[in-house]
Amino acid sequence: MLLMCYCLNTSVAIYPNGSGDFSTVFYFPDMAKDKKRFAEVKMATETDWPGRWNHVKRLLERSGPFAHPDFEPSTEILTFMQETCRILVIGAGGLGCELLKDLALLGFRDISVIDMDTIDVSNLNRQFLFRPKDVGSPKADVAAAFVNARVPGCKVTPHYAKIQDYDESFYRGFHIVVCGLDSIVARRWINSMMVSLLNYEDGELDQTSIVPIVDGGTEGFKGNARVILPGITACIECTLDLYPPQINFPLCTLAHTPRLPEHCIEYVRILLWPKEEPFGAGVGIDGDDPKHVGWIMQKAQERADEYNISGITYRLTQGVVKRIIPAVASTNAVVAAACATEVFKLASSCCQPLNNYMNFNDTEGVYTYTFEAQKREDCLRAPSIKCDHQTVKSIEERTRENLKKTLKELGLKSGQEIYVADSTTPNSLTFVLNLGTSMDVGTENDVRAAN
Ligand SMILES: [Zn+2]
Repeated sequence: MLLMCYCLNTSVAIYPNGSGDFSTVFYFPDMAKDKKRFAEVKMATETDWPGRWNHVKRLLERSGPFAHPDFEPSTEILTFMQETCRILVIGAGGLGCELLKDLALLGFRDISVIDMDTIDVSNLNRQFLFRPKDVGSPKADVAAAFVNARVPGCKVTPHYAKIQDYDESFYRGFHIVVCGLDSIVARRWINSMMVSLLNYEDGELDQTSIVPIVDGGTEGFKGNARVILPGITACIECTLDLYPPQINFPLCTLAHTPRLPEHCIEYVRILLWPKEEPFGAGVGIDGDDPKHVGWIMQKAQERADEYNISGITYRLTQGVVKRIIPAVASTNAVVAAACATEVFKLASSCCQPLNNYMNFNDTEGVYTYTFEAQKREDCLRAPSIKCDHQTVKSIEERTRENLKKTLKELGLKSGQEIYVADSTTPNSLTFVLNLGTSMDVGTENDVRAAN
């Protein structure tokens, strides 16, 4: 296992020495040497000052017991990483900031970052590429500008957009995709996109069509890092049941026996809001709108008073409404470092990649466990027919009225196909209708998935 951390000018590298044993080497450059090095940096017209890449060259220019069987030490690997390898980072938040810093310092230079969010003041404690003056600006833009200014030679290209705004020609343009996402829907979408890029010839997977995904996730003190080789190893869909279910309170508790302030807030969110429609018919809750959160807090307080429950605050109300789990900077740092290391291994083959799922937990002490998540044989496959790139939204708007109709009202008959679009996938699913004896008895109608 290779572990590197960067802290100012101190690097700690754990790597096998010549005898094959592990040795730990610490570098603490003394002040005089440092001064000399900074002078060199200042004078250098090239971005690669002497010794700049010594730390990665040790791994790329000699072999080791953990190297991929096909690994051939070479000076060209670093050149490939710097000049050819294109990396896409998805998300410029807690994990994304760490990932961009780690990848840039590992030597990757052609990095793109995509994020649809703007910077909030609450991000500043851990999303260290952002400053108070950046609040309100797109995360992707600010993160890219920061890394470009700080790491000479690195070129991060920002995309202030949703992942769904780009089609397969965009995603095909990368060697490796790294995800620092906080949404399962977005993970499923990008997973499905990368699977749809696979080419099969006579049933054989064309290995050159594989774009590996390195996925990191954190929740409080827990995190995971995984490597997905689409079409070969377990993907996001194969392991959907690993995601913890959202904590939902039983409705009867909310309605009849609330005991916690959270119960009162959930009661207002689930039952009162749709009934009273305080901001107009069909207006959904915006957890970032102080008027919305304020209304929910006030109603929750009234209910809490009824049941002698204390502890309703604005912060708690917003936390429950937005299902906020506190983000922990150190968890992000560890998971992002593991992900960046996997990208480095995949790009260079200097070490076998993670196979394929690492859990991390530092709730009590530090615990990690790695296992091989199993690929489901009936999982996603590249569809033979790609859908055109109408967005799910535009189709949904045009056909919304149809959703209320029965199959009979839609005039659908046995043998006809239904295309089902969903926000979790860029591809539509095809269902073939295989109707039972009566159109009127819903339970006898059998809809069979064909794809
Ligand atoms: Zn799968």
